[in-house]
Amino acid sequence: MGQKRILVTGAGGFIGHHLVTFLQGRGHWVRGVDIKEPEFAPTTADDFLLLDLRRWENCLEATAGVEEVYALAADMGGMGYIHANHARILHDNILINTHTLDAARVNGVKRYLYTSSACVYPEYRQLEVDIAPLKEEEAYPAQPQDAYGWEKLITERLCLHYREEYGLHTHIVRFHNIFGPQGAWEGGREKAPAAICRKVAVAKLTGNDEIEVWGDGEQTRSFCYIDDCLIGIEKLMASDFYDPINLGQDRMVTINELVDIVAEIAGITVTKKHITGPQGVRGRNSDNALLRQVLNWEPGISLESGLADTYTWIEEQVRQSLMQKSSEDLMHSRIL
Ligand code: NAD
Repeated sequence: MGQKRILVTGAGGFIGHHLVTFLQGRGHWVRGVDIKEPEFAPTTADDFLLLDLRRWENCLEATAGVEEVYALAADMGGMGYIHANHARILHDNILINTHTLDAARVNGVKRYLYTSSACVYPEYRQLEVDIAPLKEEEAYPAQPQDAYGWEKLITERLCLHYREEYGLHTHIVRFHNIFGPQGAWEGGREKAPAAICRKVAVAKLTGNDEIEVWGDGEQTRSFCYIDDCLIGIEKLMASDFYDPINLGQDRMVTINELVDIVAEIAGITVTKKHITGPQGVRGRNSDNALLRQVLNWEPGISLESGLADTYTWIEEQVRQSLMQKSSEDLMHSRIL
């Protein structure tokens, strides 16, 4: 494996930041691009450019002189954010993906990996808690729940046509709930595993054992740890497979079970309070048959082990945030 020049877009985000370090560890030269720096640790990228990829000329600059592009940049977040920002998400992500892909073509990029999502699957296949795992071909007839999923489907098509008509080798991965340390854990963009780790950590550190769960908590998902995700996308980029493919775990758990696992890791007992909130589809799981066949591999890190690492990191963030808040309160009371 020789050294390659690689671009990671969205390198200020959760998966992109980890991917930069991972690819450098494999001996590659890596450029990261984002509209923001990584939030929780400085980037290790050989070159890091702050660029808005909704703009075509910025995409040309980003993709200049690289052989491979991992296209991760997206306006996205957890269920709350995705349900509340359809217009913005569809608008921004269409611009980012159309311009990045076309700039890669103009600059003669050889391989391109687009990060799609399990959110492309139709709502009518995900109405029950105990649903069959989703196979790749079941994305059609299309009826994703949110604009986020529609945009992912459109960009999948764009990637397929760019390969057929322009010869750019485009790979398409559909992630199923990737989680791990150094991802959004508060503020509205965090997803279920991080949000639950935060709530459990707050319960542990404040002694208030009540945890709010959106809906009845019986909605099901599978969750895949970041280290498995990185291995999987590197393998896919090196493969000769170009159709959309799932990347996730195929162990389905309810959100209530997820809370119980995290509470056990934290060593506390919690009381769940079910409240109204966006829940997404009722049930979702990844069918990994194609993944096993194409890559001769599938994610192997257990949910418990991935959550233990994630919880440890989030508990530390919560501890620091509570300490900061209490010293601010103290200052405030002195001023008064
Ligand atoms: P993230 O939000 O942490 O990272 C996305 C990054 O894109 C952010 O740092 C953001 O600043 C950047 N970005 C947004 N608009 C931009 C713009 N105009 N120009 C440049 N950069 C911009 O998300 P993530 O979890 O790391 O996800 C990475 C990719 O994987 C996304 O495309 C996402 O849709 C996809 N995906 C993630 C999951 C998951 O569970 N994390 C699941 C399915 C799909």
